[in-house]
Amino acid sequence: MINNKVISIVGSGLSGLSCALKLAGSKLTKGYTLRIFEHGERVGGRAYSVKVDDFSIDLGAGRFSPVLHPNVSQLINELGGNVEVFPFTKIVCPHPQHKGLKEILAQLKLKIVSSYNESFFQFLSSHMGSEKTHAMINGLGYDSLYLPQISPKIAYDIIEKHPEIQCFSDNEGYEWFNLVDGFSALVSNLYERAAVLGVEFYFQHKLINFQIDSSNTRLGFSDPEQQEVWQNTAYTVLALPPTAMSSLNVDFPNGWSDFTYGSIPLFKGFMFFDTPWWKDYGLENKVTIIDNPLRKLYFKSDKYIFFYTDCAYADFWHDETKKGECDFINTVMTLMSNALNIPIKELPWPINHKFKFWQSGVEFALETSGEHPPVLSKNNGKIITTSDAYTPHCGWMEGGIIAGRNAADYILKQLEEAELAEVEIEVN
Ligand SMILES: Cc1cc2nc3c(=O)[nH]c(=O)nc-3n(C[C@H](O)[C@H](O)[C@H](O)COP(=O)(O)OP(=O)(O)OC[C@H]3O[C@@H](n4cnc5c(N)ncnc54)[C@H](O)[C@@H]3O)c2cc1C
Repeated sequence: MINNKVISIVGSGLSGLSCALKLAGSKLTKGYTLRIFEHGERVGGRAYSVKVDDFSIDLGAGRFSPVLHPNVSQLINELGGNVEVFPFTKIVCPHPQHKGLKEILAQLKLKIVSSYNESFFQFLSSHMGSEKTHAMINGLGYDSLYLPQISPKIAYDIIEKHPEIQCFSDNEGYEWFNLVDGFSALVSNLYERAAVLGVEFYFQHKLINFQIDSSNTRLGFSDPEQQEVWQNTAYTVLALPPTAMSSLNVDFPNGWSDFTYGSIPLFKGFMFFDTPWWKDYGLENKVTIIDNPLRKLYFKSDKYIFFYTDCAYADFWHDETKKGECDFINTVMTLMSNALNIPIKELPWPINHKFKFWQSGVEFALETSGEHPPVLSKNNGKIITTSDAYTPHCGWMEGGIIAGRNAADYILKQLEEAELAEVEIEVN
């Protein structure tokens, strides 16, 4: 089938869905077929929730702040989603380093300008010594703050824009929310809206390569039977994170921009119990930051407990899960007992559990200088790529929405120019 009035979007995360919706809602795409090709069996990518017993849990994206994430907030208002407060903005069982930390960080922030090209770790070490720096970062619970590529500016952004540790910044009062039904409810709603507008969805279509010549773009999928149908596409949007782009034969990133990219792994583990025993310890709706591999431990009302880790401790938990269910749960419970100072024999064994490891949970541009364009393109703007990683909101759904809409605008501008050129030819 040859049809060059096709716009193909690869990836049905928030970037791909936002791009499709904006294109489908424009008069300029009248006569075009919009298609989304998705590797998996569902939409949403890293926005992914599942039901365990009666509870929806977010294995990926799990919260938003209306102040920081106005586009997410607006989509959720439109959806009429069942929103609840994400209460984990107050730390219990404070770490010794938490005392005075807000003031220390505020004073050091004033010195950032002179520390250009330093990592946050080097920056802190030069002012506090490496021992205190270790203790401070341990107390902040996000191990990405140790990474050499995390500059002081990015580190402050992390501290100010994460609910658990915003209390060490001026953003202390920001409110955070989650969806009772999980963020899959949001992406499912976007999927339904796109389908109603005529967007075609093709699941289990993994793009593996690309053939481009002057007039033709051929998308090559992992299943050979899927190949020949999608030969001619007028525009192709690769709504894929940098790691997925790098696995294609499209010379990414070198052939696209001067930017380079990094990613870090994330791990979330959920434990369900017969009784909400943590209520007896006054822990419901509280979060604690811990000096052991659990790192951040959350007590979700009377429903369940979860922990959330990044970098080396995400890999640690990934390895633990491979040892088998019993060993994994035993490690979690032992570390929980140590962290809460409750004898392990007093803690019940979970009746259910769930976890998810994300090899590249957060993706970002490594260059801290220069603004990253929200869209990168090839072939006279006919092939473009976009991702939350290219936006100032990398690692957030907000970034995915902004990225997808920017990609759509990029195509709509070209369609508008083509329409104007046609009118001019007719007039002449
Ligand atoms: C554990 C975790 C916690 C998070 N917490 C939050 C949070 O609390 N709040 C928040 O706002 N954000 C959070 N995020 C980040 C948020 O989920 C992402 O920023 C956002 O979902 C990115 O959307 P995207 O469309 O750009 O990318 P993705 O969601 O990664 O979508 C990319 C899609 O492309 C598909 N794909 C990949 N390769 C191919 C291929 N070759 N062919 C076809 N399809 C392909 C994938 O299957 C996927 O569906 C979290 C992420 C994780 C992992």
